[in-house]
Amino acid sequence: MSILSDHFLNIRAEIRRFLPAQPCVMCGSMSHDGLWCAACDAALPYLKAPHCPVCALPTPGGEVCGHCLAQPPLFTRTTAVFGYSFPLDKLIQSMKYAEQLALAHAFAKKLARAIDKSNLPDYVIAMPLHPAKLRERGFNQSLLLATTVARELNIPLLPDACRRLRNTPPQSSLPWKARKKNVRNAFSCGTDLGGKRVALVDDVLTTGASLNELAEAVAKAGAIQISAWVVARTLPHSELRTG
Ligand SMILES: [Zn+2]
Ligand SMILES: [Zn+2]
Repeated sequence: MSILSDHFLNIRAEIRRFLPAQPCVMCGSMSHDGLWCAACDAALPYLKAPHCPVCALPTPGGEVCGHCLAQPPLFTRTTAVFGYSFPLDKLIQSMKYAEQLALAHAFAKKLARAIDKSNLPDYVIAMPLHPAKLRERGFNQSLLLATTVARELNIPLLPDACRRLRNTPPQSSLPWKARKKNVRNAFSCGTDLGGKRVALVDDVLTTGASLNELAEAVAKAGAIQISAWVVARTLPHSELRTG
């Protein structure tokens, strides 16, 4: 796929949103309404294979995976729209580091469509960013995603319920085994969530260590059912699906 030229990394999506026509962020074609064209959408790595209902890892018949059986996370269901592979990985990085805020909006709408409407939570909570990182980046991509998802589904968002207490190195910079330790007790939740069902929103689920720590904080605050809603799930290489 000949995509992802420098131009789309540099153009501010928030400016382009107000233009009547904009090139597809992936191939530059003009024949579409949203941020990307139908052909590029069809080539995105949608997570279509049967997968573990708890963590969204593909399993042959959609049963709970071995990891979740051995060490069940504190969230009980995961909804993921995509596998975290090319070119979706580039789009997510662009959302986080190149201020492509319109991408967050587009991803959140996809995520809202993928959510099981028969069992919606009482609240939506975004993966918090440490204040120092927020100053550095200027925005919390998970909060942007959560804001749109909550609005699309008409569920209250609790933007200040949880805080990140420590400014830990990015999980993506660490080997998988070190990630659990890196985020241990990294979050606190000061809002009473007694008896409530909550959905935690993040951009990518890889080991699930951050989401599990955040789930622990909301469980301590009384939440009784915790779901993870993510745009993309990192998959073992052999599990990647496209189409
Ligand atoms: Zn395209
Ligand atoms: Zn699993």
